[in-house]
Formats: sequence, C-alpha cells, structure tokens
Amino acid sequence: MNRRQLLIAGGISFLGSRLVFANRATERADIVVIGSGGAGFASAITAFDAGAKVIVLEKMPITGGNSQLAAGGMNAAGTSIQKKMGIPDDWKTMFEDTMKGGQNTNDPALVEILAKNSAESVEYMLSLGADLTDISRAGGAAHSRTHLPKGGSAVGFNIIHALRQNAIKRKMDVRTGSRAKALLQDKEGRIAGVMVSDRIGSLYTIEAPVVILASGGFSNSPELIRKYRPELASFWNTNQPGATGDGLMLAIALGAEVRDLDKIQVHPTQAANSKILISESVRGGGAILVNKDGQRFINELLTRDKVSQAELKQPDGVGILVFGEGTRNKLKLIRGYEHLELVKQASNIEALAEQVGVNGKALAKTVAAYNDYQKVKKDDAFDRPDMPYPIDTPTLYAIPVRPGIHYTMGGVVFNTKTQVLRKDGWIMGFFGAGEVTGGVHGSNRLGGNSISETITFGRIAGTQAAEYAKAVRKV
Ligand SMILES: Cc1cc2nc3c(=O)[nH]c(=O)nc-3n(C[C@H](O)[C@H](O)[C@H](O)COP(=O)(O)OP(=O)(O)OC[C@H]3O[C@@H](n4cnc5c(N)ncnc54)[C@H](O)[C@@H]3O)c2cc1C
Repeated sequence: MNRRQLLIAGGISFLGSRLVFANRATERADIVVIGSGGAGFASAITAFDAGAKVIVLEKMPITGGNSQLAAGGMNAAGTSIQKKMGIPDDWKTMFEDTMKGGQNTNDPALVEILAKNSAESVEYMLSLGADLTDISRAGGAAHSRTHLPKGGSAVGFNIIHALRQNAIKRKMDVRTGSRAKALLQDKEGRIAGVMVSDRIGSLYTIEAPVVILASGGFSNSPELIRKYRPELASFWNTNQPGATGDGLMLAIALGAEVRDLDKIQVHPTQAANSKILISESVRGGGAILVNKDGQRFINELLTRDKVSQAELKQPDGVGILVFGEGTRNKLKLIRGYEHLELVKQASNIEALAEQVGVNGKALAKTVAAYNDYQKVKKDDAFDRPDMPYPIDTPTLYAIPVRPGIHYTMGGVVFNTKTQVLRKDGWIMGFFGAGEVTGGVHGSNRLGGNSISETITFGRIAGTQAAEYAKAVRKV
C-alpha cells in the first residue's frame, strides 16, 4: 500500500480540509460488494453460496437501490413461463432486439451473455422465491418477454424482497448507512480493500482482495448530468436519491476505463409534476399516448429514445396516456398510481379529456380510430404491432406524463467475466455488474433489460469473484 492508503488503513485521512479519525479496527473479508440493488444482492448471494466471506455495503438507510423501484418487469427469452403461455421466443431474437434497440453500439459479446442467460436468471429468481409468472411486452421487443409478478404488480419490490429475504436467511453481512469512500490497492495495483464511512461518518477499512462494484447509475446527480448531457440539466428524474454515480467515480479514480457516459436515457412517461415513473408496461398493456391536441403521434411500442424524441416535439413537450379497463385490470401496478392520485378517470372521453386539458372532440376521434384498428389488429396510423385491449369500457383512464431522465447506459468497461478493465487490462480483484457498467445497452436500453442484466451479470460477478478470492486467499 502507498503512503496515503497506509494512512487510511491506519485510521487517519484528510478529506478536503476535514481531519477524520477512524475509531474502528480494520476488518477482513474475501469480497466487498458495493451496492445492494439487484446486481449487488445477486452477486453477494452467489459468492456467499460459493463459500466466500462477503460484506455488502449500502450507503442509503435501506437496501434495494433503483432495483426496488422497477415496475415493468424482467426480460428473458425462452423461459418456462413463456412456453406455458405459448409465446415463441429465443435468445437470438432477444439478442437482435437488444442490439437494434441500442443502435448497434452495444458490445455484442455482453449482449449475447445477457440474452443466453436470461431464462436461467428468471429460474434463479424463482428458486429464490420471486414471482415472475406473468408476462407483458415492452418497447422494441419482438415478443412478450417482460416477466413480472402475477396480476402485473411491480417487479422491483418483488425481486428485492426475495433477494433480501435470502440474504437474511443466510445471515449475510449487509450494512446500510455504509458508504464506500475509497478503493484500496496494493503495490502491484491489485484490489486490497475498501475504506468505508459508517452511519456517523467514522471511517474504517475492510481489507479484501476482491471488490464487486454494483453501485448503480448517476441519473440523480445534477453535476454529472450537466457534465455529460448539459441539455438535460432542467429535466426531472425518476431515480432514488442515492443514484449519484459516486461508485463510478471510485472506479475512475482507480484508472478504470469508462464508456458511453453521455448516453443517458430519457423515459417518455414520468408522471407530470412528480418523481413517479409510469411503467412502460402500461403502454405495452394497451395504453395509447396522445398530445395535448388529442392526437396520437407515434407507435407507442417503439423504443424509449424514439418515443421521447417524438414527445418532446409535441405541444409543451408532454403527453397523456389513455387506456380502458382491460389495461387497468391486467396491471395491478396501476392501482399504485391511482393510490398516488396520478390517474384521472371518467365515464366518457370528453369528460376525461377535460380533466387532462385535451381537446375532447379530437381525443374522441383518435380513440374511435384506435378502437377500429384494435378490432382488426391492424394499426393504419402508426403500425403499432400489438393492441391488446380496446379503449371503450364504461370507465376510461388517463395519466398526464412528460419525459424524465431515467437511466445511464454508460459506465465502467467490463468483460464477459465481469472484470473491470483499465487500458492495460484487468484491475485485478475488481469486478462490476449492473447499471454502473457500460456496454450492455449501447445507446439505448430496452425496457426490462436492466433487471435482467443485474441478475445475470450479478451472478457471473459472484461466481468469478468467489473463484478469484479462493485462489488468492492466504489462509
Ligand atoms: C422508477 C424506475 C423503474 C424501473 N423499472 C425497470 C423495469 O421495470 N425493468 C428494468 O429492467 N429496469 C427498470 N429500471 C431500471 C433498473 O431498476 C435499474 O437500472 C437497475 O435496477 C439497477 O440495478 P443496480 O443493482 O445496478 O443498481 P441499484 O439497484 O441502483 O443499486 C445500487 C446501490 O448502490 C448504492 N451505492 C451507490 N454508491 C455507493 C457507495 N459509494 N457505497 C455504498 N453504496 C452505494 C446505491 O445507494 C444503490 O442502493 C427502473 C428504474 C427506475 C428508477
């Protein structure tokens, strides 16, 4: 360790002008996992099950990260659930959809891993007690492959609950209020541990030959958004407060390569005047998107980048989701939006239009035309490929929305073994998974692919990290 690292390990560090004294003894582990979202928990549980001593650090007061907020679902192709429902799908189609959605700027080797392992990742989550037995369709997907709990409840809470319970059952060491402040290296540049700031700001060191970085994205960092995409500075975002990219900065400080940091996803349906994301499954489940003039303006099932760009060109740059009872009954998560008073409802289109400030006659005409297309399963206006329900039920619904910053596609460069790379190769002992990494989604992520990514790459990171830790373990 160099002088600064020794100082840190010895318990004294200068942070800015503040002198901070550590008051805890140095600890030891095989693996420190930074972050407790889908990627962090999946990697930690996998490594623990492979026999490693694992410590999970979470800077926020609760575990779960953005993963816990995920609503729409988890993409996977060729699952037992799809087979039961008679949905034809395979990993190659998921691969092609993902590459196309990412404008072919994704790393194909990583996408192949994502698609090939997706069905197994769903089975893994089912084995841990998650419910992924329902399916919906997300933008850019050739088939319905977005797995979510029965009745269409939000996926994130279900998955994180299962992971959390499994960590508790195993009596794993998961520390909330614990921020990774610096990564430590030995003289050869290999990972040597992590400096941690605890709930009251005291610093301590965990010596470990392996770190798995699973610290999520940076959509909630105004500084980083301004730096990489200044034109988005005024946008709201859908993320949890901890999605600030400080884990990414730790990796950069270690010399990790990064890619695509300017590829920031704007989601077309953040509820107006709120932080709440209206899941893509609402469009997939039958909602149309209209502008303030009551006109549809795009095939609602196109990818997020395309729908957002089109929406920003509409009057005031906003949209309104409109749907009927079929969509509402398919998706339990809409009850959550109702609970938050985000959903308007009425017994006829004109009354609904009035509530959301839209021209009623125009909206009635748009909805009638859509219902005609829906009946014959052919959308003459925008070629929408799937129209599961008409919008003609006794009660009709609308949610005003606008585009919001949602997801950061870029991150640390890593390989198919989840090793985090510097220009000259692997930073030994350093693995990464989830939103903090770059390359899986290219320029645009498909809805449902992120939860899938966190479980698949999290599991690979856990396996690889445990093997490496075993090989370098001294005792
Ligand atoms: C509202 C919403 C809905 C979404 N819906 C879907 C969906 O339906 N399907 C889908 O595929 N994707 C969805 N996504 C995207 C997806 O949820 C996330 O991209 C994914 O869960 C990220 O997982 P992760 O494990 O990489 O990061 P997170 O789940 O964000 O976990 C990272 C954790 O690391 C912690 N952390 C950060 N820095 C440090 C540090 N220095 N020390 C300690 N801890 C640290 C953070 O606090 C956080 O808890 C949604 C996202 C949002 C915001």
